[in-house]
Amino acid sequence: MALASTKFKDLDFFNQSLESGYKLLPFNFIKLDDSRYVITNIAGEYLVITKEDLYAVANKQLCPGSPVYNTLKSKHFIYDDDSSVALELLALKYRTKMAPLANFTGLHLFVTTLRCDHSCPYCQVSRQSEDKAAFDMTPEIADKAIDFTFQSPSNEIKIEFQGGESLLNFEMVKYVVEEATKRNQTENRDLQFVIATNLSPLTDGMLDFCLKYDILISTSLDGPEELHNGNRPRPGKDSYEKVMTGMQKVRELLGPDKLGALMTTTKDSLTQAKPIIDEYVEQGFSSIFLRPLSPYGFAIKTKSFDAYQTEEWLKFYKEGLDYIIELNKQGLYFIEDYTALILNKMLTPFGTTYVDLQSPSGMAISAIVFNYDGDIYASDESRMLAEMGEKRFRLGNLLQDTYEGVMLSDALLGPLEATITESMPMCNDCGFQNYCGSDPVYHYATQGDIIGNKAFSGFCKKNMTIMRHLIKLLEDDPEARDVLLSWVRV
Ligand code: SF4
Repeated sequence: MALASTKFKDLDFFNQSLESGYKLLPFNFIKLDDSRYVITNIAGEYLVITKEDLYAVANKQLCPGSPVYNTLKSKHFIYDDDSSVALELLALKYRTKMAPLANFTGLHLFVTTLRCDHSCPYCQVSRQSEDKAAFDMTPEIADKAIDFTFQSPSNEIKIEFQGGESLLNFEMVKYVVEEATKRNQTENRDLQFVIATNLSPLTDGMLDFCLKYDILISTSLDGPEELHNGNRPRPGKDSYEKVMTGMQKVRELLGPDKLGALMTTTKDSLTQAKPIIDEYVEQGFSSIFLRPLSPYGFAIKTKSFDAYQTEEWLKFYKEGLDYIIELNKQGLYFIEDYTALILNKMLTPFGTTYVDLQSPSGMAISAIVFNYDGDIYASDESRMLAEMGEKRFRLGNLLQDTYEGVMLSDALLGPLEATITESMPMCNDCGFQNYCGSDPVYHYATQGDIIGNKAFSGFCKKNMTIMRHLIKLLEDDPEARDVLLSWVRV
């Protein structure tokens, strides 16, 4: 005899006629403040309602035709006899949201060398001195990595060169770009190259090559000169000067739209949200990604990760976001990138390829890493963890393993299955589940478990606080709402 489920009611309960007026579609909810709740459905649409209305919805006591009834119906939280296409429409929206999964791996990171001329204490990979060619990618490894890359079914293939300092092995960058371009003459993918570099080894010859192959440049800029040089030491203490000179050359030769920059928040950055943003504005950028430290590699070894807590970073983030919104109100179009990613998830039907905001995690299926020695990692963070000796997320080696062997390995499928937020403990009934994701490497690094207890998770605290903050701004501050809506790209 089948055991009665303690969790679900009988099928008859769900099949009952609409005598009560309406039926519920799947939704989650979370407290916004003392009097309001956010409810979200599986397509990611949200609504802020009062506690009383939430009780009324769940108990099927809403009055048909009332404003809240109509809004809930139009946003697919409830349906009634008039909603003939409600389920189909909800399914369509859900499919649209999940579409990036079908594209499979787009971003392929090639670690051309571990050598670097900087010695940033927060660096997430072990640095090697500039003369150790043993830490360079070889043509044999690169060929295998290119083969692997083109086995992805994705029409959009992005190859990003990472390090160490990727340009210290520029010969390998050239080799990969030329070989992949040749290969693409028959593959016909939408192929794009990005070089992540601190810009210090940049030469005019390198730039000519970048121009020829339409290569994008992504650099690091941590803020004003003193902060940047403090965060990013190099011989001569001139990292800022080097990056300024490099950025100017990139813009002159490749064009302003070919340059991007990323910052990392250190303890010294926490009190400098405005100067950091001002620096980005002054240097002609139209956005900034306020990134916290990651708990990997040197960041843990040197205790930089412990240097401040998530709370402090959130204070920094909110101060920065307030300031950016003010700048927008004064007429400057300037975006905070993480906020924009979340807003796009909240306010459009589209999903994201940003690895940490995907369900399941985007490890390997959105981005994959080929280390200089042929080791394959599920994400850049996995490689960083491996540099500390923890190879939990190493998926194989290019010289020994096949594409199928890697992509169907337990080492990958296990974490993917475990990181579906819809079934992950604590995330499964979280009202922000649709906007969030999972970061198995972060949780493994901080809690020794790929899922992690979200009550103690900095990742969860960060996302939950940001999402609550954004919804309050959207609901309660019309001017801020206008600014935030202008960051949403359809
Ligand atoms: S990580 Fe936290 S905020 Fe994100 S879905 Fe899970 S419980 Fe919600």
